[in-house]
Amino acid sequence: MVDLEHKLKQGFNGELRFNEPMSEHTSLKIGGPVEVMAFPEDPLSLRNILFVANEEKIPVHVFGGGTNLLVSDKGIKGLAISLKAFGSIEAVHSRTSSERNVSEEDSDEQDVTLFVGAGVPLAKLINYAQKNGYAGLEALTGIPGLMGGAVYMNAGSFGTEMKDVITSVAIMSKEGHLIILEKDKLDFSYRKSGLPDESLILSANISLNKDDPEEIKKRISEYMAKKKDSHPLGELSAGCVFMNPEGDVAGRLIDDAGCKDMKSGNMEVSTMHANYFINRGGASCNDFLQLMKTVRERVRQHSGVTLEPEIYIVGEI
Ligand SMILES: Cc1cc2nc3c(=O)[nH]c(=O)nc-3n(C[C@H](O)[C@H](O)[C@H](O)COP(=O)(O)OP(=O)(O)OC[C@H]3O[C@@H](n4cnc5c(N)ncnc54)[C@H](O)[C@@H]3O)c2cc1C
Repeated sequence: MVDLEHKLKQGFNGELRFNEPMSEHTSLKIGGPVEVMAFPEDPLSLRNILFVANEEKIPVHVFGGGTNLLVSDKGIKGLAISLKAFGSIEAVHSRTSSERNVSEEDSDEQDVTLFVGAGVPLAKLINYAQKNGYAGLEALTGIPGLMGGAVYMNAGSFGTEMKDVITSVAIMSKEGHLIILEKDKLDFSYRKSGLPDESLILSANISLNKDDPEEIKKRISEYMAKKKDSHPLGELSAGCVFMNPEGDVAGRLIDDAGCKDMKSGNMEVSTMHANYFINRGGASCNDFLQLMKTVRERVRQHSGVTLEPEIYIVGEI
């Protein structure tokens, strides 16, 4: 390990932690230790550490805010990378009315392109956009986690998804190559970004419309109120456990199958939103998995629908 630590530190700016409990990095507060956790501060440090991981055949995992993750109680073998230092937001291009096409002239909207680092919390981005009068992200209010995770998951809410605003994504391949993928090369679908396997998202450019900050603020408050009314935002969860099946809603199917309130150890199906499982304190990954299994089976028996997980399960189960 001493030798490995030495290699990992070569050309690396940032923090390395060993046997770091993942429970401190997930919204569920569940998860055993990861062998090495790295917080690179720049793309070169990221490339150098990926190079060592490749050479030493160390498995690599990347995570953001850990708000869509269920991590094994046994932890994770290998290297977990957090890009939370990649935290800049910059306006890279702003179009004025005179630059717009003739076909756009019936609209008085102007747009702005923002460069957003993978480590920017989505809430911070929404706040920044509101203050500067950039509209388009309001419906995503209340989604926790970081930009990289939101892009990877194509996070969405109230009919808006990340794909609606993204114009390009910068990724680093496992081998350390930097690649920019423009919108026409991106293949987003429901809760999926379709990015090449094992690529790390470094940043994304997004396009927003200019609008009155007060109007944006009003819409944010309305969405937040709706979300608070129907989602248990203050509890320990990983958001929706299952994806909505085509033409239906997983929460309704779980509710109809009589699973609200169901428990496994200290994990419980939320009474407010049946697709949220709540850690009532000290729940284990196994409690969660057992509850998932029981709910899935009940729904299958009740409606014939097999629910597919939205959350990512990481580590040895
Ligand atoms: C209370 C609550 C409410 C939620 N509401 C919503 C909602 O309304 N809509 C919605 O879509 N989701 C919702 N979620 C789920 C979750 O917040 C989103 O999926 C979020 O976008 C995940 O971001 P994260 O940074 O936490 O990603 P993580 O959970 O850390 O990771 C999720 C996946 O993304 C990958 N990933 C993360 N960062 C990168 C990167 N830089 N490069 C490559 N891959 C990466 C990880 O490997 C993992 O596979 C909610 C969760 C909670 C706890």
